[in-house]
Amino acid sequence: MKIAIISRDPSLYSTRRMFEEAKANGHIVHIIDPLLCYMTIASQRPTIHYKGEELTEFDAIIPRIGASITFYGTAVVRQFEMMGVYSLNESVAISRSRDKLRSLQLLARKGVGLPVTGFAHSTKYTKDLIELAGGAPLVIKLLEGTQGIGVVLAETDKASESVIEAFRGLKQHILVQEFIKEAGGADIRCFVIGEKVVAAMKRQGNEGEFRSNLHRGGNATLARLTPEERLTAVRAAKIMGLNVAGVDLLRSNHGPVIMEVNSSPGLEGIEKATQKNVAALIIDFIEKQAKPGRTRTRGHG
Ligand code: ADP
Ligand code: MG
Repeated sequence: MKIAIISRDPSLYSTRRMFEEAKANGHIVHIIDPLLCYMTIASQRPTIHYKGEELTEFDAIIPRIGASITFYGTAVVRQFEMMGVYSLNESVAISRSRDKLRSLQLLARKGVGLPVTGFAHSTKYTKDLIELAGGAPLVIKLLEGTQGIGVVLAETDKASESVIEAFRGLKQHILVQEFIKEAGGADIRCFVIGEKVVAAMKRQGNEGEFRSNLHRGGNATLARLTPEERLTAVRAAKIMGLNVAGVDLLRSNHGPVIMEVNSSPGLEGIEKATQKNVAALIIDFIEKQAKPGRTRTRGHG
């Protein structure tokens, strides 16, 4: 097959690993920087051009769209879909998963376990919002944050109020969430491919840190999942419409609750912690799924 990895940086571990595994299986692989793609939008024959050449005859793409380029990146993916190229994760699903509020609403709709979460635009009724989220301690998060930056634990109602007002004063959108204390500063990253969790790791924050992000100094080890956790992770990926997803959950005393669903989950942490060849499993999945015209939405929505 002819496969394109849509990634800004060929030297990233994840990009490199998928490139190697696809090559090893005899595929032709290109790494394409989405920001250097340009396109024509015509009803007869949509095209994509890259460095002066038209991109043709691709059977599949692997989108690795960074959060900061979601808008243009998903437009490029959509264009491939319009051309009938199979995309490992489709553009609509990527956009959906990038919006934390929308994701939580979609998951809640289907009855997936979530921490009690509130959000508001105005700070007029902050006290009421705090009460609705169950009162302190509360976790307050910037909607746009990643890698644990912009996630704050407020121990008292008064502190919650100040943090919410400070963030809103900076015109930031936020979530106010029940603090899952019993998770003990750890979360579980479930790597989902198709309808299976193929690898899972437990990430534990440093001593005294409630955030488990590896970027914040957390460490990762192989995790054994309960059947309920497996089911929850697979359902969450499915609801988001993602074939490949990194589903993060917390072990709460009312069962697994979803933190977030990532559409470009990194491979380095999970491959190292679990010793599984996740990149090869992704390529296997594409080989089974990527038939011409198999893109479900064809750029729709
Ligand atoms: P980011 O997108 O920045 O990674 P997350 O929502 O994943 O933000 O939060 C970062 C980390 O903080 C999580 O991995 C988890 O360890 C911890 N955390 C987040 N929300 C809660 C919560 N409601 N209760 C307990 N811990 C939480
Ligand atoms: Mg996270």
